[in-house]
Amino acid sequence: MAHRAQRPADEVNGNPVAVIGAGWAGLTAALVLSRAGRKVVLIEAAAMPGGRARTVHSDGARLDNGQHILVGACRHALSQMRAVGVNPLLALHPVPFRLLMRRRVSGGAAESFLLAPRSTRTRDLGAAFYEASRDAGLPRRLLGLAGAWRMLHRPLTRDLPVADWLRANAQPSGLRERVWEPLCLAVMNTPPAEASARVFQSVLRQSLLAGDGPARLLIPRRPLGELFAEPALQQLRTLGASIRLATRVRGIEARGGDGFLLTLRGGETLAAGQVVLAAAQRSAARLLPAEPVLDPLRRDLVELGERSICTVYLRYAKAPPELPPLIGLLGQHGQWLVPRRLVGDPHWLSVVISAADQYPMPDADSRWRRVGRELAQTLPGLGEPQQGRVICERMATLDARPGLDDRRPDTRTPLPGLYLAGDFCARGLPSTLEAAVQSGQKAAAAAITDGIPDLVRAAG
Ligand SMILES: Cc1cc2nc3c(=O)[nH]c(=O)nc-3n(C[C@H](O)[C@H](O)[C@H](O)COP(=O)(O)OP(=O)(O)OC[C@H]3O[C@@H](n4cnc5c(N)ncnc54)[C@H](O)[C@@H]3O)c2cc1C
Repeated sequence: MAHRAQRPADEVNGNPVAVIGAGWAGLTAALVLSRAGRKVVLIEAAAMPGGRARTVHSDGARLDNGQHILVGACRHALSQMRAVGVNPLLALHPVPFRLLMRRRVSGGAAESFLLAPRSTRTRDLGAAFYEASRDAGLPRRLLGLAGAWRMLHRPLTRDLPVADWLRANAQPSGLRERVWEPLCLAVMNTPPAEASARVFQSVLRQSLLAGDGPARLLIPRRPLGELFAEPALQQLRTLGASIRLATRVRGIEARGGDGFLLTLRGGETLAAGQVVLAAAQRSAARLLPAEPVLDPLRRDLVELGERSICTVYLRYAKAPPELPPLIGLLGQHGQWLVPRRLVGDPHWLSVVISAADQYPMPDADSRWRRVGRELAQTLPGLGEPQQGRVICERMATLDARPGLDDRRPDTRTPLPGLYLAGDFCARGLPSTLEAAVQSGQKAAAAAITDGIPDLVRAAG
């Protein structure tokens, strides 16, 4: 989209760049702008930073609003963590790409399945996929292997649901049910029958095809807030940014090429030279100035849709024995188990339920009790939890259906000086921390570039 140079850079009229939202996208944008010497005001509705990746204090327990996992391919997110003084080698526990899955079977026993390629080289991945499809006859296993190669190596020219893509590539049921479908649900937070194969393929290619390092899973060793949001806020303060927590932006008014006027909770107003709108897609749609030129964007943002995630936290009277850092759960309400031992809370286990809107429960109590019961049958010796907490995020991620990338907005809006940032902007990625960080960097870079002609004019 053509974009004319933005007039009121902060150095020109004294107004700051306003960044709305202190999730990973907004924090990144604010950091990049501040490091470039721009005057920044960061405004966040909540009392703490982090957005959808924040620490939650619940009855004395320090939990996260959702169990988060990164992969080595999250280059931008990892480098932003480093830039605020967090060492990913200490803050994240690396696990080579491997999947350990457990299924409950009647009579109290449980079966395990392990996909453990020696490396992510084609030969080793192929051997692991071949082994994973052992239930099928030889011709189907070979066909499945050729299909898996195509899935990883031939970029898709048209988008389709993941389930159809797996079928078109002759994936045997063992491989589908134990590997691709659970992975799709976890990565895309959208069921395989509805998820975009193109975005899923893009994630697989960026991680599995990029080598052992990028394919590595990185499990937090610290509460989410400490991974980025809290140190980022600290650095922003040091850089002189103004931080307004617990301050909701009620509206943004465009002042006809002379910047913006923000209305804050309580009626206070704030003038801004440029605005980076880093609220999630639905809030961003509500906040866009009431200019007709923004109407199509407003509609597109709402149409991106949302999916929920529930995280069930279970506390055991006696700390469970040391378990692998990630266990896939097949055929039950919970989908992935991540012990909280790594974050220093050995009595707690967390269990993730992606696309939770598909798996309704009458209430939180029934949800954690059911997950606890099924887990006790899956991991003999674990017993039943003493206590449970459920955190459901109704708008956890985008609804990552086919055609998602075509619907995603550019960081530059049709209104000069107004930029979008957020996981919903980053093409080729589902809603992730990496997507949020990439979008924040891009929005800040655009705001800086567009401000330069004015600086040159002002200097001349
Ligand atoms: C339960 C759960 C599990 C997840 N698991 C993973 C995972 O394993 N790996 C991964 O990479 N990603 C995961 N994600 C996704 C990841 O958390 C998001 O993609 C990322 O945090 C989005 O960051 P963001 O900055 O784009 O948006 P947000 O974090 O939503 O930030 C937007 C901010 O804007 C603020 N805001 C909104 N409206 C206003 C207003 N009017 N005024 C001021 N402020 C406003 C909000 O309060 C919020 O802080 C998960 C998400 C959830 C919820």
